[in-house]
Amino acid sequence: MRTSQYLIPTVKETPSDAVVVSHQLMLRAGMIRKIAAGLYTWLPLGLKTLQKVETIVRQEMNKAGALEVLMPAAQPAELWQESGRWEQYGPELLRFKDRHQRDFCVGPTHEEVITDLARNELTSYKQLPMNMYQIQTKFRDEIRPRFGLMRGREFLMKDAYSFHVTQECLQSTYDKMHETYCNIFNRLGLDFRPVEADSGSIGGSSSHEFHVLADSGEDDIVFSTDSSYAANIEKAEAVAPATERQAPTQDKAEVATPDQKTIEEVTAFLNINANQVVKTLIVEGAVAEDHQGPAPLVALVVRGDHELNEIKAEHIAAVAEPLTFASDERIKDALGCSAGSIGPAGLDIPVYVDRSAAVMSDFVSGANKDGFHLTGVNWDRDAQITEVADLRNVVEGDQAPDGNGTLTIKRGIEVGHIFQLGTKYSEALGAKVLDQNGKAQTMIMGCYGIGVSRVVAATIEQNNDDRGMIWPDAIAPFQIGMVPMGKSDEVKELTESIYNQLTAMGYDVLLDDRDKKTSPGVKFADMDLIGIPHRIVISDRGLNNGTIEYKNRREADAQDIAKDDIVSFLT
Ligand code: ATP
Ligand code: MG
Ligand code: MG
Ligand code: MG
Repeated sequence: MRTSQYLIPTVKETPSDAVVVSHQLMLRAGMIRKIAAGLYTWLPLGLKTLQKVETIVRQEMNKAGALEVLMPAAQPAELWQESGRWEQYGPELLRFKDRHQRDFCVGPTHEEVITDLARNELTSYKQLPMNMYQIQTKFRDEIRPRFGLMRGREFLMKDAYSFHVTQECLQSTYDKMHETYCNIFNRLGLDFRPVEADSGSIGGSSSHEFHVLADSGEDDIVFSTDSSYAANIEKAEAVAPATERQAPTQDKAEVATPDQKTIEEVTAFLNINANQVVKTLIVEGAVAEDHQGPAPLVALVVRGDHELNEIKAEHIAAVAEPLTFASDERIKDALGCSAGSIGPAGLDIPVYVDRSAAVMSDFVSGANKDGFHLTGVNWDRDAQITEVADLRNVVEGDQAPDGNGTLTIKRGIEVGHIFQLGTKYSEALGAKVLDQNGKAQTMIMGCYGIGVSRVVAATIEQNNDDRGMIWPDAIAPFQIGMVPMGKSDEVKELTESIYNQLTAMGYDVLLDDRDKKTSPGVKFADMDLIGIPHRIVISDRGLNNGTIEYKNRREADAQDIAKDDIVSFLT
């Protein structure tokens, strides 16, 4: 591809609403553009990478014997009523009516549709196991879409669903998918960990999440130093004994602290689960202007649960009290994560602290950077924060649930999730096949998701520096960048010849053929920003010595390669 014929609208400034590096860089490199909250257009450069991820996912799924299908985005309410999820699925489900006033939704996931297909098309145990997948656009009306593609409302998912008559058969497909996911994330060049996940209300069944390790991740994942134990925090907490940890310093004893009862009352009021509260903090020095003076706030640190925030927002709106809205590096330090807090000012009234900084800007548009303002209440930059109690069941340094080693906690981005569903959907929809004895049997199901578009962002979170992205070769939009410098015929001819050879060999090559008005410095900066892993510079100066300059995006120094060797060197 020649730059002159392509669209790469790079921008210098970091867009102000982008907090994580992948979001910033994808906007700056002209890979995506936002159209509305959580909705993005993929520009040619971004789409190239997305499609390369898709290809790897598709190849590995096919290799594992899964069959590709494509289901509609719009789904009739009737199917969701049959499974019971029309009522259960909260506001994340985007519902609409067609012109005949019939109810539909835009699919956030496809268990109902695939189970409907299976009940109609599968009749005998001989057809099983069957694993069907699609790579398709999902819509989830996320309460707080953020971090660009990491938490979009519309996003690309690979979702697979398998059907079985025996638990052993499900287990074997599940294991195969586990292995397939490892192959996929290895091929993508990601540093990832499969972790046990809490299978929640379905009970008994097994579930694993695949996390890309990155500080910007929204999830905590727990590892043992000396064994293979790895779980997400919810799963780890579910098996750990409940403990109340006291903070090391408690010199603010005169400030009434929320006792367990208060926390319970508060959490009941907020309609959150008390064990989602992981810490309580006292925040002093938040000044309510229409209060008598500085009022300490009690902060509850609550695990990120996105419906929670909405409940909280409603709750706050219902309280005709001034609100405090706080953001401060020291809260961040105290929590070990980005944080904001909101809540009515006053000693006995809790404020909610979320780990995500993005939460705040959503609530308060026009908030300034040095302290958020809302209805006349200011956050005092000198506020003192005292940790009162740490209520987490699992912290760094604990023993492992399997008795081996101590626990470390890292941040992860959930890029994949596999799940043994059992008969939840097949039972509800009556999806049965005849078994060996000619008896109708409800099929057992598994489901397997990968956030294809989230993978693109997660890869950038793991591969970047202050100049931009650094793509692994496997999914780089272009693997090789070419910058010709100088006007001699030799430069022109050799550039064309190398470009043609590499392109004919199937490489994605970006030839920066912009004219002299674009300086070499700008061209190099753009290639670095885009993250092209290999760059060559064909210049008169080099050719005088018979060489072409090569630079690897991950290395500091360039090297000179004999001009006749350059193609074999690159390939
Ligand atoms: P999360 O915990 O991040 O909300 P989830 O557990 O709700 O994700 P799943 O239902 O397990 O998501 O969906 C399968 C995969 O789809 C996830 O592992 C994730 O990679 C991806 N995914 C889910 N929600 C989003 C989103 N809003 N934007 C981008 N990718 C998403
Ligand atoms: Mg979710
Ligand atoms: Mg999840
Ligand atoms: Mg999940």
